[in-house]
Parts: sequence; structure tokens; C-alpha cells
Amino acid sequence: MSRTMVAGNWKMNTTPTEGKALAEGVIAAAGTPSTKVVFGVPAIQLMQVKAVTAASPGYFVAAQNMHHEDKGAYTGELSASMLADAGIDYVILGHSERREYFNEDDSLINTKVLKALAAGIKPIYCCGEKLNVREAGNHEMVVSKQIEEALFSLSRDQIKEVVIAYEPVWAIGTGVTASPQQAQDMHAHIRRMIDNQFGSEIAANVTILYGGSVKPANAEEIFGMPDVDGGLVGGASLSVENFVPIIKAR
Ligand code: PEP
Repeated sequence: MSRTMVAGNWKMNTTPTEGKALAEGVIAAAGTPSTKVVFGVPAIQLMQVKAVTAASPGYFVAAQNMHHEDKGAYTGELSASMLADAGIDYVILGHSERREYFNEDDSLINTKVLKALAAGIKPIYCCGEKLNVREAGNHEMVVSKQIEEALFSLSRDQIKEVVIAYEPVWAIGTGVTASPQQAQDMHAHIRRMIDNQFGSEIAANVTILYGGSVKPANAEEIFGMPDVDGGLVGGASLSVENFVPIIKAR
């Protein structure tokens, strides 16, 4: 089973008209991909982009967030069952922007991960350290804590459905990229953690993406590292011209 994936996170960008053109343009230019390709789109575009990808094997759709309750008086929110009923494949959870601007912590994210899995949606769980943590040399400790709190309560069957994205916060949207070796070191550490907790077969198959200023110019080198299975791509996923070479680099 292939571990590879290239996922785009459009964030709060693109109108529905622009998003439809972007997804169609990527599919037309990249053709049948040799890796899974995921479009992480604004909520208003989920069903539309799902319809665009429906006849194209290898392409999937992700929500960028989801509420942890099943339903109720949570104005403006979407539940896991709504996403599942709309045929959405993945949900990005724990992105650093959700942690920073919406005060999400790993205990809440753990609840969301479990809800998504119960509804049959695969979480793309984001973790990663801030710059001051990296500078103090505490990055492995912080990422370990994130992974333990958000994922270690899962069963072996559940963890198989989870994609992990290592996204050093200092590399997101900054133009600064972790070096291929920095990415590899953290990815190997994460895979070792999964091995220790869930066993070697699951560790060998878990998809671990790198995120943080991936672009056409650096994708091949980063994706060439043995424990980097692909990327979660923000800015460069917003144009056909940038995203397609990244897909092809994987
Ligand atoms: C992201 O937001 O997940 C991300 C990696 O952004 P960028 O590629 O723009 O750094």
C-alpha cells in the first residue's frame, strides 16, 4: 500500500468559481497522479470540488476543520456526519492556524480525531513546533507531546486511517523551509513513536507529510527523504502552475 500523498490547503482563499477552475485545472494538467492528491478546500466548496474529483481516480477532498460535537447549537460549524454524508474523504485537524487563532489544543483535537474516525473520515493531523522551541532544541519533545496527546488514545485500527503532517510553524507561509535533513529527522522520530506505540507494521505504512513552504523548487529534494511521504502545501497549492510540479515531484 502506497504511503504517498500531496495535499493542498487552500485556507481562506478562492471563491467557488476560482476553486472549481483550480481543481479542474490541476486534474487536467496532472492527469492520473502516481500519488494520492487531496484538495483541502473552504467549506462552501466541499461538495462542488467533490463533484469535480468524482470521476478522477487518485483525487480526494478534505475539509479544513470540523466541530467535535455531533450536532446542535454551534452556529457556523460543521459536524463529522455532515462531511461524511457529503462524501468528504479527509479532514485537516490541528493546523497551527487553528491552534493559534482558535485556541485549539491537543485534547480538543483528539476529540475531533475520534469523531472524524467514527464518521469514516480520515484525519490529516498537523503537528509542529514554533521557532523559539526549535531554537531551544526542544522540537522533538514538543512534537512528541502533541502526537501522544492527540493520537495515542487511538486503537490500532483507528491509527491506520490517520495521516500525520509535520509542519514546523516557523516554515508555514514564511518562505523558509525546513532542510530536507531537519524534515527527515523529525519524520523518523514520529515514525519511531508510532512504532513504539502501535507496532512496526503500522509505522511502516503510516503516511507522514511535510508542510512548510513546499514549492516546485524544493519539493523533489524534500520528498526524496526516506520518511517524507509527501507534502501538505499551502501557498503553492493555489495555482496549477505551482501545484502540478509538486504533485509530479512525488
Ligand atoms: C500550510 O498551511 O499547511 C502550509 C504548509 O502553508 P505553506 O505551504 O504556505 O507554508
